[in-house]
Amino acid sequence: MASKRLATTATAALLSTLGTIGTVACAASSGESVPAVNSTANSTVSGPSASPLSSSAADNRARPGAPGIGDPDFPTDGNGGYDVDHYLLKLGYTPSSKRLAGTARIEARATQHLASFNLDLSGFTVSRVTVDGRPARFDRAGSELTVTPAESIPDDATFAVEVAYAGEPKPVRNSSNLGTYGFIPTRDGAFVTGQPNGAKTWFPSNDHPADKARYDFELTVPAGLTALANGELVGEPRTVGGRTTFRWRESHPMASYLATMTLGRFEVLQGKTPGGLKNLAAVDPIFHGSLRRLYDVSGKVTDYWSTLFGPYPFSSTGGVVDDFPAGYALENQTKPMYGGFAPDDDIIAHELAHQWFGDSLSIKRWKDLWLNEGFATYAEWLWSEHEGRSTTEQLFHRNYAAAADAPIWSYAPGRARPEDLFNNSVYTRGGMTLHALRQRIGDPAFFKLLKQWVATHKYGSVTTPEFIAMAEKISGKNLEALFDAWLFTAEKPSTW
Ligand SMILES: [Zn+2]
Repeated sequence: MASKRLATTATAALLSTLGTIGTVACAASSGESVPAVNSTANSTVSGPSASPLSSSAADNRARPGAPGIGDPDFPTDGNGGYDVDHYLLKLGYTPSSKRLAGTARIEARATQHLASFNLDLSGFTVSRVTVDGRPARFDRAGSELTVTPAESIPDDATFAVEVAYAGEPKPVRNSSNLGTYGFIPTRDGAFVTGQPNGAKTWFPSNDHPADKARYDFELTVPAGLTALANGELVGEPRTVGGRTTFRWRESHPMASYLATMTLGRFEVLQGKTPGGLKNLAAVDPIFHGSLRRLYDVSGKVTDYWSTLFGPYPFSSTGGVVDDFPAGYALENQTKPMYGGFAPDDDIIAHELAHQWFGDSLSIKRWKDLWLNEGFATYAEWLWSEHEGRSTTEQLFHRNYAAAADAPIWSYAPGRARPEDLFNNSVYTRGGMTLHALRQRIGDPAFFKLLKQWVATHKYGSVTTPEFIAMAEKISGKNLEALFDAWLFTAEKPSTW
């Protein structure tokens, strides 16, 4: 995510241009009735769940999967007991009724003998759940969808769960910390950005970056609108009966918060970067004047990062500007989303650096968020220097000049706090940490480290201790004191 600090000015400017956006003119949903076999959203579990349906001896060892993936700061995010390999999301959305309906097919592998398991899903009416084609029992409680298959699933077995659901998506609104995120209806469609845990507002998922998966999307919208998702279009969009289906495929592992189905009226520009990589830029028509620049700068930045960080990890680059005034940008895999403002070079450089730091390499725990945001912030400084503006050294000292009692020093960026996840320290002091490291180990070791970090953990999950260990190995220096002062101490570091 681009820091709110960066995006605020642009958003304010936009708001003054647009005035108030979008009253909610909403017809009741269509007359299609959805058999509410089970509970609807936010009900509590009505009775004991997961009573064993099979009495075989093996089932006696089966246990429910945990309701969280094990991130202590976000205890109910994600789920335990399985690992998702692939999502197939066949979804239709109608802006006039704000109705989302369809099915999610999830292919996963059990990591324990499962009597039941959870998915994360917020809102909607679930009409049917099957596991390997057989009807399964399901219960709702808050954002947890608990699925009890007819037979338990042995450890290490692969299985496919299919969930049919429909309803009006409700984004997460939590302005004190994260703003509005998830599936956000707009005047002409939807703006969909999930960080940190908004995937659950539009599809059932293991909603935590520690479980990455491949994705196929089949998105059906009223003809005339464009549905954009991650990765590449598969075939031409097909229009039948006034509705158009767009098929997209992201064939590289992706964290759930990076998935998108942003849709609406868009002007699209497609081609290749000077370096030969596919490039797609799309803007809401009110940002018509920004399309060419978004396309050009995104291409230039992606090519430059490929020389500095190593080969681009995905099959295309680009960016999308929509009209929802989110006040932030998000680094959605292959298609960063800019919420209601035409991004400047620094934000484009930031979001595209995330394709390496955050998207290809994902964090295992949210407290390590500086591995995403510190790196993307430092990338802004590298781009500034590359373009002949302020140097990284100048930008480091400008920020280091903050008084000893400035807020940035009282927040240790190496432990991002769940109640203040996107604090400026995670960004700016995180970026300063990398510059302090660079000063200490020298340019050859520093840039070798960046490339080796990216190559070693490509498409994987990372932690701060792993980064520190690699920095020490490549530099041959003990860096404990440096990282302790810059990442883990709530006061202004005196040396680097
Ligand atoms: Zn960011």
